[in-house]
Amino acid sequence: MQDLSTLGRRVRHFRTRAGLTLDQLGRELDVAPSQLSLIENGRREPRLTLLTALAARLGVTVADLLDDAPPSPRAALEIALERAQQGAAYRELGLPALRPSRGMGDDVLRTLVGLHRELDRRARQAIATPEEARRANTRQRLRMEEVDNHVPEIEALASEDVAAVGHAGGALTHRTVSLMAARLGLSIVHADDLPHSARCVLDLESGRIYIPPASIPGGHGLRSLALQAMAHMRLGHGEPQDYADFLRQRQDASYYAAACLMPEAAAVPFLEAAKKSRDIAIEDFRDAFGVTHEAAALRFTNLATAHLGIRLHFLRAAGDGALVRAYENDALPLPVDVTGSAEGQILCRHWSARRAFARTTRTTEYFQYTDTPVGTFFEATQTGTTEAEEFSITLGVPYEESRWFRGRETQNRAVSRCPDLSCCRRPDADSARRWGGRAWASARVHAHIFSPLPQGTYPGVDDRELYEFLESHAAAPEE
Ligand SMILES: [Zn+2]
Repeated sequence: MQDLSTLGRRVRHFRTRAGLTLDQLGRELDVAPSQLSLIENGRREPRLTLLTALAARLGVTVADLLDDAPPSPRAALEIALERAQQGAAYRELGLPALRPSRGMGDDVLRTLVGLHRELDRRARQAIATPEEARRANTRQRLRMEEVDNHVPEIEALASEDVAAVGHAGGALTHRTVSLMAARLGLSIVHADDLPHSARCVLDLESGRIYIPPASIPGGHGLRSLALQAMAHMRLGHGEPQDYADFLRQRQDASYYAAACLMPEAAAVPFLEAAKKSRDIAIEDFRDAFGVTHEAAALRFTNLATAHLGIRLHFLRAAGDGALVRAYENDALPLPVDVTGSAEGQILCRHWSARRAFARTTRTTEYFQYTDTPVGTFFEATQTGTTEAEEFSITLGVPYEESRWFRGRETQNRAVSRCPDLSCCRRPDADSARRWGGRAWASARVHAHIFSPLPQGTYPGVDDRELYEFLESHAAAPEE
């Protein structure tokens, strides 16, 4: 059912097209003209009998009246203005509601509506300042720590969807992902001209998921991208209301994708067997399900505490030691700023996540025991490189849990006193005396610090690029 405002404008549109005044129409239908006026102004809902009579007299169908499209470009502007004035951002200003009179030109209306749009855009943008983004991200991390990074509802949904296409176990193929998409009425289309700001686009109208061409290097993440787009539908996501909402949706979508790629029903027995033979290794889990090391390590955090009773931590660090992403429910003392945010902070240089970069041979995981002020942790780190920088993925557990893991016999050991600054941040007294006031350096700007700024409806995605992309593809026949 459309809103009363549009309905009223459609009635008025068809009445004037029929050359009738309110008085004439009222007389013919035996309705007071004032009642018709209230309906046309969207202030009263007509009964179905009146709607039927109106349609008959105006030579249209009831469906024509109930259509939710504005009857003319002018009406579209009037409706947009009305809606904007009903929004919270405008009402906060305490300005009077402006009713578009007949004498108000289209250009005036267009200007007002344009200003409202910009006002709204700026209000949304202000919500996601880097600081607010960091706070929202921290709240989300803490929320997931409370539930041991395990979401039974999404696990159930993913299990159901994977089982519905007859997937029995092992790596989920592109073919299976396509079948899953088809079941939702979607088709996967590879596009080599995706908007620069988007990694994947879902066209709800045509039911297409656009992802990059399969041939690009690192294409193994494509199944995950397509699954994340499907998650948007399966989890009933709408346009995010604010940055926190955006983060939650994104995290839930990633969770769904991971739960499809490494289904609980197959992954848990695999990990239980590894635990039984005291040989848990993320590299094995990764290879068994054909995913990236990071995806496998993150998925392990979903299942380890809930199913194996193991508390743990996950770290993704950049080559310069900055923390890109973290999860812990084992009390590892993550470096945090005053807002409680860990992303972008520099990790202790004695931790496995950073020591692993110093190795020359990096084909296998690096293992290390790290003594910290809150206890000893066993950590396994895999390093890698993107075009832009090197990174490391670390999965760690408290000392007593190391007995379940491959690499526990390692002789690598380090002592960390972080967050005490004297551990690895503050220079020792001798070198401070030697160099204090005798050197100068220019800082490298941290490009990866967690501070995405929104440009459109979806934070970080340029709406214009997105809509141009959709326009150009909607016209093309489906493959
Ligand atoms: Zn340190």
